[in-house]
Amino acid sequence: MAYKYIDNYREQGARKKLVDELKKKGIEDRQVLEAIAKVPRHYFFDETFWNQAYKDIAFPIGEGQTISQPYTVAYQTQLLHINKGDKVLEIGTGSGYQTCILLEMGAKVYTIERQEKLYERTKLVLPHIGYKARFFCGDGSKGIATHAPYNKIIVTAGAPTVPDILLGQLTIGGTLVIPVGDSESQKMVTILKTGEHDYEKHVLDTFRFVPLVGERAW
Ligand code: SAM
Repeated sequence: MAYKYIDNYREQGARKKLVDELKKKGIEDRQVLEAIAKVPRHYFFDETFWNQAYKDIAFPIGEGQTISQPYTVAYQTQLLHINKGDKVLEIGTGSGYQTCILLEMGAKVYTIERQEKLYERTKLVLPHIGYKARFFCGDGSKGIATHAPYNKIIVTAGAPTVPDILLGQLTIGGTLVIPVGDSESQKMVTILKTGEHDYEKHVLDTFRFVPLVGERAW
């Protein structure tokens, strides 16, 4: 790969500043902040745009998609309450940055992306920079039944409703984090599975995601 992965004091300093900014915005989970301090976000950008990598903004990654804003990544990850060894399904691999944050926290990650070009690129990049996940290409709005159940499911694109099929792929005690709303804005929703057919739902803050496109989505 021609692209050079260099992580020196300048990038490490920028990550520290980003972590401070996220703390000020209300992110408290120490493990999440440590993961953000470790994962080189600039590796997910073209070298020309490295100066954008540690701003708290979403950024285009091609195919009309974005790498999520660091605050959004931290917010969703915090809600998952990751324990070491958790089996996590991520729907919407995109750049793979969120995947690396989960891996850095000790999760086993199954990640699915519907855009073939992004899937191909991310599947190559992650092992190259030292992160191992299971990659799938297809419609994640149906989950991945063959590897279920999962302790946690995170959806990184905005859905019109909660796809019931995903709840069926959670372990009891498991959590789904999913943005739900229309194309303009979505509320972050967490659903804790408390029994085979029992759930505890919380509707939280407003975000704006790219749409979840698929059979159980838009
Ligand atoms: N976590 C990613 C990151 O940090 O780069 C976020 C990527 S972006 C906000 C959401 C991704 O979800 C896009 O790459 C999009 O193609 C993908 N997506 C949308 N609908 C999907 C579906 N049904 N199954 C899998 N991926 C989907």
